[in-house]
Amino acid sequence: MYDGSHQSSEYPVCDYEGSEYQREFWDKGGREYEDLVERIALRRLLPKTGRLFLEIGCGAGRLTPEFDRFERVVLLDYSLTQLQQAQERLGQSARLVFVAADIYRLPFVPGLFDGAVMVRAIHHLVDVPSALAGIRAVLKPSGTLVLEYANKQNAKAILRYWLRRQEWSPFTREQIEFTKLNFNMHPQTIRECLSKAGLRVRQQRTVSHFRLELLKRIVPTALLAAADAALQFTGNYYQITPSVFLRADADSRGRAAAPDQFFRCLHCKHNELTNRYDHLACQECGRLWMIRDGIYDFREPVARLEETT
Ligand SMILES: [Zn+2]
Repeated sequence: MYDGSHQSSEYPVCDYEGSEYQREFWDKGGREYEDLVERIALRRLLPKTGRLFLEIGCGAGRLTPEFDRFERVVLLDYSLTQLQQAQERLGQSARLVFVAADIYRLPFVPGLFDGAVMVRAIHHLVDVPSALAGIRAVLKPSGTLVLEYANKQNAKAILRYWLRRQEWSPFTREQIEFTKLNFNMHPQTIRECLSKAGLRVRQQRTVSHFRLELLKRIVPTALLAAADAALQFTGNYYQITPSVFLRADADSRGRAAAPDQFFRCLHCKHNELTNRYDHLACQECGRLWMIRDGIYDFREPVARLEETT
């Protein structure tokens, strides 16, 4: 619901810079039920182990502890302040790598990650096919993507449409922008976009069956979450909840990144960046990418190498 839009290189990006999203929406927002059922879905869909994992649109790191099963986790967000909140929340450790970057321009070599996760982020994207193609590119062959999207074809939208209290149809394939840079998607459209990007859906779980204020008030959260957990598997057959989680596996194209490679220069696509205390320097074009308080900042390069020497 946050409207912090601004224009990046190609598409408008929903930027949570300066936002108190974690505190306002989660910690004080009465969303314990949503938080719990999302964690349940994640635990069922995530691979059991893995070496390197990418969390896209991590915000203040609400879900990051769920990725303890992976050896290293890269937390990516466009907003520096969200990443700083995540650092405070999770602490700095060699296991966690914090990266500020645009979802459409991921600063990593192809074939790097065993898996990626994106929860409550794709609904901010204007161009879903481009973003998914970029994510597929940084996954290893047969790597895993766990994705959550906001479903336009949810029971409440269907009912409102039938009662003529809502003009747009929940059954048509286009995305609906219900507030600026917040899109709800049709499940079939998401699956087609994934398929075109080389990602095959393996499992779907429908989440937040009981997102109704009255129910949340009168039924204990743990009980409501248990009921939701029992129904999540029906997502494999039909999807009428406001939130849907899925696991997709990448096809076998491409190859895994070399063990010594990690970041990629966004300007010239060169894969050798030298780490120099507070910045990474591209060995090909000389662009410098800053490291600010332990956060790799790939939003814009600061200068070229020769201009600073
Ligand atoms: Zn470069």
